[in-house]
Amino acid sequence: MPGRLGPRGPEPERYGYAILGAGCAGLSLCHYLLECGVDAPILILDRKEAFADDRTWCFWDVEETPFSDRAVRRWNSWSVRAEGREVVHTSGRYPYLCLTGADFYEDALDKISARGNVTVRLGEDVRSCKELDDGVLVVTPEGSYLADYAFDGRGLPSDSAALREARRGDGWISQQFFGLRLRAGRPTFDPQTCTLMDFSVDQGRGLRFAYVLPFDEHEALVENVYLARTGAPPEAHRAELSGYLQDRYGLSGGDYEVRGEEWGDIPMTSHRFRRRTGDRTHAIGTLGGETRPSTGYTFLRVQRYCRALAASLTGAGEDPERVHPWRYGPLDRVFLRLLRERPEGCPGIYARMFAGTPPDPLVRFLTERSSPLDEARLIGALPKLPFLRLAAAEAFDRAREIL
Ligand SMILES: Cc1cc2nc3c(=O)[nH]c(=O)nc-3n(C[C@H](O)[C@H](O)[C@H](O)COP(=O)(O)OP(=O)(O)OC[C@H]3O[C@@H](n4cnc5c(N)ncnc54)[C@H](O)[C@@H]3O)c2cc1C
Repeated sequence: MPGRLGPRGPEPERYGYAILGAGCAGLSLCHYLLECGVDAPILILDRKEAFADDRTWCFWDVEETPFSDRAVRRWNSWSVRAEGREVVHTSGRYPYLCLTGADFYEDALDKISARGNVTVRLGEDVRSCKELDDGVLVVTPEGSYLADYAFDGRGLPSDSAALREARRGDGWISQQFFGLRLRAGRPTFDPQTCTLMDFSVDQGRGLRFAYVLPFDEHEALVENVYLARTGAPPEAHRAELSGYLQDRYGLSGGDYEVRGEEWGDIPMTSHRFRRRTGDRTHAIGTLGGETRPSTGYTFLRVQRYCRALAASLTGAGEDPERVHPWRYGPLDRVFLRLLRERPEGCPGIYARMFAGTPPDPLVRFLTERSSPLDEARLIGALPKLPFLRLAAAEAFDRAREIL
């Protein structure tokens, strides 16, 4: 009964669109709606009190995004280190871009505020979002809002029911990481080449690698990353990162100044997130399943989906469900199974994959833009027997689920 779900106190404010979460997906979707000519009032709610420089987004420059020109760094070379060797890939065509959280939020808010129809409210913890006959009612402790459509981009914070449900299945891997943005007192880093995965670290606690984004010879973001069902406690991450800085660069605590920290826990899962949650409600971003299960990369998928969703809502585009090619799903599930069941074999397999596949086809595969020929090259570089076994086990489990 709408009356029982209704707001306490005064009439709720009415909007055309309510976006829950002013993060990557929420702000991106708002931008694309405006770009499609939406002039109805848009409300964005977020529980945070301010926008902070809380993350760094990297992605390959395979296509234009509205935010790419704010990238602080572009690398044409990247490396993978495993089993005593280093594989370096160089691509003139697809640089690896780095966008800071601060620049993304500033750019998105600038774009949004250029129009007069968007209200951004921080400090609003959304407690519920319910479809009524005449709209969607969004309730926070600060007030109630009615909108024609609502988009839930609240992500998967540690207190969310959606996270608990997604973790229940056994297909879950966390990409858990801790990073330091640091400035070394002496020239230390090679600014031409970033390190995507350095497996030359102790693997005792689970599959682990270091990730290094060198901004110049002195400054870098260096991260300690786990790909495992559970990661490591914060003190272990800190100790492992210091150990890595010492072992790889000869840096001890007094040799660098810490300029920032970054924590993350990105879901890598075959859990099926629902994008369409009702006639008037959609889930977007991580909550809508935009994280690529086998890699954790999310940024480009968010851009693609939000752009297509805005176009379809305004009658200018195709079904957004078709924006991610379906054929990557089975391959991703096989990679996830590899991470779960044979983590000890992964460093060698990644090294083989990078050594045996040319850079551009591999980038296209990692960004879901590959051709069948690109995929054949990648498959050709992988060890056949283990992958056939994994693929057969995956097919068997899928068939059991269906029957
Ligand atoms: C540190 C870090 C680094 C990452 N780096 C990369 C990368 O390099 N490349 C890549 O492709 N992906 C990366 N990712 C993964 C992914 O791109 C990001 O997590 C991205 O921010 C996901 O977008 P989102 O909009 O779903 O969630 P978010 O950007 O996290 O936004 C969710 C928003 O919802 C708000 N919120 C949550 N609960 C409530 C509530 N109850 N009420 C109101 N508001 C609420 C939060 O405050 C937040 O602002 C990274 C993730 C992290 C955490």
